[in-house]
Amino acid sequence: MRALVFTEPGRVEIQELRDEPCRAGEVTVDVGLVGICGSDVLGYMGKSRGRVPPLVLGHEFTGRADGQTVVVNPIASCGQCPACEAGRDNICPDMQLIGLHRHGAMREHVNVPRDNMIAFDGGASAHVMTMTEPYACALHSVSMVPFAAEDRFLIIGFGCLGSMIGAVLQHKGATQIDVVEPAPARAALGERFGGRAVDADATEPMAYDHVFDCVGAVETHAAAGRAVKSGGHIVLVGYKEAVGGIDFVDVVRREIHLHGVMAYTAAAFREAAALLKGGALKADGLIRTYALDEGQQAFDEARDGRTSVIKNMLRIGGGA
Ligand SMILES: [Zn+2]
Ligand SMILES: [Zn+2]
Repeated sequence: MRALVFTEPGRVEIQELRDEPCRAGEVTVDVGLVGICGSDVLGYMGKSRGRVPPLVLGHEFTGRADGQTVVVNPIASCGQCPACEAGRDNICPDMQLIGLHRHGAMREHVNVPRDNMIAFDGGASAHVMTMTEPYACALHSVSMVPFAAEDRFLIIGFGCLGSMIGAVLQHKGATQIDVVEPAPARAALGERFGGRAVDADATEPMAYDHVFDCVGAVETHAAAGRAVKSGGHIVLVGYKEAVGGIDFVDVVRREIHLHGVMAYTAAAFREAAALLKGGALKADGLIRTYALDEGQQAFDEARDGRTSVIKNMLRIGGGA
């Protein structure tokens, strides 16, 4: 089969890969569309610890299997450990992600656990459903805080994840959403999700009930700490740097809650798929689609931010 293989930092190329037999409980999905995640771009730049070449990237995808159009949860967990039994399968010690721990979905066929497939025939478009994975990340991030529609929210970094958090907050009825994003085209997207673009230096101090840091750099940690109310919540979504800029004296003295979030639970993924199938996300103008042969260009443009869309996708097969 044809596959887009990450071969060295800054390079992806089309190669012919052998088909793999299904293991017990697996089914073969004929891949239709695959989104390029920020984590795939980091991998391709040689900046993701787990993504070691040669590797097929890609974990946000839809396709056809068993005569149905499906979206796939790319996380497989053991199902038996205390975390899994508590419904927190996203922090299972044996958690495996397609496109990280094994070859991903930027190829014609990929074998996945049957239980990870969700059919969506007759629901939303395949482009929208291919956003299920980032939307599930956003749902899980928002589920970390005690949400009230009248609360004030700040989203730092309005890339794909930030904008999906905006979409989730808007869908839940939040009306006071501010967005800090240096790229003007992305900041403008904030308005579409009910947000108001504010300048990084002009955010009101100690004003927000909930701050979502989708970047995870020293400066954005510090900005989140300044912006959050006493007793408020900082959700750490991005993790650009392992050493942060959070003032822990401030965390203690102002009783700030810090939440780390890892991907999404299987339950959040199912909820995301159901919401998108029901029309919760309007994706027109948000997505650009490339052919598999244009993979190098799609990655380069995602890396350089030379685009006003929030998601580059690769079209691999027909159908979904
Ligand atoms: Zn992703
Ligand atoms: Zn487990």
